Order: sequence, then C-alpha cells, then structure tokens
Amino acid sequence: ALEVVDIHKRYGEHEVLRGIDLTAHDGDVISIIGSSGSGKSTLLRCLNLLEQPSRGEIRLRGEKLDLREDRHGDLHAVDRKQLERMRARIGFVFQSFNLWPHLNIVDNVTLAPMRVLGLDRRSAVEQAEALLARVGLADKRNAYPGNLSGGQQQRVAIARTLAMSPEVILFDEPTSALDPELVNEVLGVMRSLADEGRTMLIVTHEMRFARDVSSQVMFLHQGRVEEPGPPSEVFTSPRSERCREFLASHL
Ligand code: ATP
Ligand code: MG
Repeated sequence: ALEVVDIHKRYGEHEVLRGIDLTAHDGDVISIIGSSGSGKSTLLRCLNLLEQPSRGEIRLRGEKLDLREDRHGDLHAVDRKQLERMRARIGFVFQSFNLWPHLNIVDNVTLAPMRVLGLDRRSAVEQAEALLARVGLADKRNAYPGNLSGGQQQRVAIARTLAMSPEVILFDEPTSALDPELVNEVLGVMRSLADEGRTMLIVTHEMRFARDVSSQVMFLHQGRVEEPGPPSEVFTSPRSERCREFLASHL
C-alpha cells in the first residue's frame, strides 16, 4: 500500500495542498478529480518528491520516506539513495509523455531499468519488446518518438514506466494532450492495467473512464479532499454541492 498522511504544500503564502490523506491498497485504482488549480498535479508530484511537500508523511509498503525540513520550510529526502529507491517503486506518467527524443523507442524503454535497476542489456531489451507488444507497438521498436502519434508516444511512456516494475503508478492527465480519436487507445491500456490489479492513482477529466475503472474517487477542492468515496456514490449522489456542480459540467 501507498499511505499518504496529512500532505501540505505551500508556495509562499499560497497553501495549495491543505492536509491530504490517502491510502492506496494493492490493486486500488484511485481517480483524482477536481477543477483546474485544485491541487491535483501538485499532489501527485509531492508523492514522489518532484515537488517538495511542506508537511506530511509518505509510506510505501510500510517504509517511511525520511524527510527533513529545509530553511524554506519544504521537506526534502534525507537519504538520496532511499529517495531514488522509492521513486523507482512509484511510476509516473505525464500528460506530455516526456520521452527522450534522441533515443529510439526500445532505448527509451530500456534506459532506466539498465541504469537504475542494473538490468543487463539483453534482459532489458527482451522485457522492452514484451512491454511494447503489450501496448500494441511491437513494430515501432526502432522508431523515434517524433515519428509517433501522441497516442503511440503515451503508450511507449506507459511501457517505459512498466519496465521499472513499479508498485504504484501515478498518471497526471495522460490523455489530455491527445487528439480525441487517440484517447481511447491510451485509456484501453490503462484499463488493462487496472484489470490486472495494478495500483494506480489517476488524475483525469475522463469521467466515464474514472467511473468504470476506479475503486475510489477523490474530488479535490482548494487543496482538500472535498468528497471521497466509491465511484457508485461520488458519480451518482455526491454529498458536496461543489462536487455536484463539477460533475454537472464535466459529464
Ligand atoms: P489543472 O487541472 O489545471 O492541471 P491542478 O489541479 O493540477 O490543475 P495544480 O497544478 O496542482 O492544479 O496547481 C494548484 C495550485 O498551485 C494552482 O493555484 C497553481 O497556480 C499553484 N502552483 C502550482 N505550481 C506552482 C509553482 N511552482 N509555484 C507557485 N504556484 C504553483
Ligand atoms: Mg494538473
């Protein structure tokens, strides 16, 4: 499980996250929804310290990430090695894919497992080919990211994340940068990951998808969890007026 306790994030005077608790048990798919600026990306980024939280605790399978406050009041990892280990266990899929443009697809997928996990080239390539086949891109192994569609690039990005065998995968609006006709090929891959019991946190505006695949939904408002619950409740009978309004304009 990934356990997050009382996460706060402040930028100067602006408190963007105001005490977020979250537990993702193994196999949970948690969708995080909410208006622009509610803190969804900041939350995901704090979980693997792409952003320094100002307060809070992060535990992965019981291992607590050791954090220490700096003079700005932000928390930093005490132990660089531990941070790298934890990061390798928490995959991140970005809205903008972030593939290496100068590397071909196979090299994009094998780079981190070779560098970070110490896989030898042969096993890394074997694994990459299996993962590319799984996301439907076996024939693109030698292509470069610039020659792929957005949907294909995002599927490579997912394969690259899977290559690290993460315990949890964070997705920040993985389909928002895509042309509408390419959205479903990415959602299809994500659905298959959910079906095989992967633990995932997904920031998304795809409400139908969130309703279908999530075990839990969290509606964020101004840095707080305004409405948590199973999708059957949050999407059909939200208790919060704000959540109701948000859904009315997004369904
Ligand atoms: P969106 O749906 O538009 O992606 P979001 O819910 O992901 O929105 P965040 O990106 O987490 O929202 O931003 C939350 C708030 O934090 C916003 O008010 C934003 O302006 C502010 N913010 C984010 N990053 C920074 C930063 N580096 N410095 C200052 N303020 C920031
Ligand atoms: Mg965002």
